[in-house]
Amino acid sequence: QAKDNGRNTYHIYSQAVHRDLAKKLEMVKQLRHAVEQEALEVYYQPKVELLGHRITGLEALVRWVKDDGTVIGPDQFIPIAEDTGLIIPLSEYVMRTACNQLKRWHEMGFNDLTMAINISGKQLHLPDLVDTIVDNVSEARLSPKCIELELTEQVFIENIQSHTNFMHSVREHGMSLAIDDFGVGYSSLSYLKNFPVTSLKIDRSFVRDLPDNEDDAVIVQTIINLAKNLNIQLVAEGIETSEQVEFLLSRDCGIGQGYLFSRPVPADEITQLLQNYHGLMPIDISS
Ligand code: C2E
Ligand code: MG
Ligand code: MG
Ligand code: MG
Repeated sequence: QAKDNGRNTYHIYSQAVHRDLAKKLEMVKQLRHAVEQEALEVYYQPKVELLGHRITGLEALVRWVKDDGTVIGPDQFIPIAEDTGLIIPLSEYVMRTACNQLKRWHEMGFNDLTMAINISGKQLHLPDLVDTIVDNVSEARLSPKCIELELTEQVFIENIQSHTNFMHSVREHGMSLAIDDFGVGYSSLSYLKNFPVTSLKIDRSFVRDLPDNEDDAVIVQTIINLAKNLNIQLVAEGIETSEQVEFLLSRDCGIGQGYLFSRPVPADEITQLLQNYHGLMPIDISS
């Protein structure tokens, strides 16, 4: 009896595993097709000055738009892309699209805007990554100064020589370097001073329960102090309420991103946002 149960359990388990695997393989196949056909879309989320709400930059966030129109978020396919190597052509597509789009916005007169692009740890193994990025930037006729690369904390914790070299090379080319999702890595903070980082993005899990959650308030205050002492720009992620804005402003964190200002949206919608913010737009004083 017991043996039979065991066998049945195994049988059910193996069926489930088989189903999962089949589903995953189908997804890999579809994703590969989407990358090849460039059926991915790049959405953009504004980065804003919390005082006055002027848009200072955009973050490129990739989406997979299926044939039936459903939009799939990156959390559901970036890990698969990383496991299969598809992250490389995917990232190149995002980079190219975001650079060309930024150039269009510059040409419309919004010429102070910056573009932040997420870099996967898997890309860092490419020896010519910086060259590829720089090529994309110059092909779009952009200055490297308006490009910011976001790396998650994990990359910094790993502390691999080639990663450090990458970061220094990024800075030497004049691009900015941000640590994304800062604070979730439970790491020693000493690594911060060893890397040529220009900005920290406070993970949204610390912002979510502000201002009421006292632990989060202390953590955010600590990160703000840290950034100030190291002379690093600070960006708060995941701002959804004006109470959060008030808290952050009172603690001297001046830049943020979040649904309160805008969700990530297609380029057209950003163009509209930029045009509506007319009075607040950066003015080119050089021409
Ligand atoms: P991330 O770089 O930390 O991006 C911020 C994420 O927080 C985005 O999710 C954004 O939609 C979400 N978010 C922004 N404001 C709010 C808010 O007020 N409330 C809440 N609840 N969420 C907010 P998204 O677009 O789903 O991206 C998830 C992650 O996928 C990104 O996290 C990034 O790590 C990765 N990712 C996205 N695009 C790319 C890409 O082109 N390349 C790579 N390597 N990774 C990407
Ligand atoms: Mg990011
Ligand atoms: Mg983040
Ligand atoms: Mg994230």
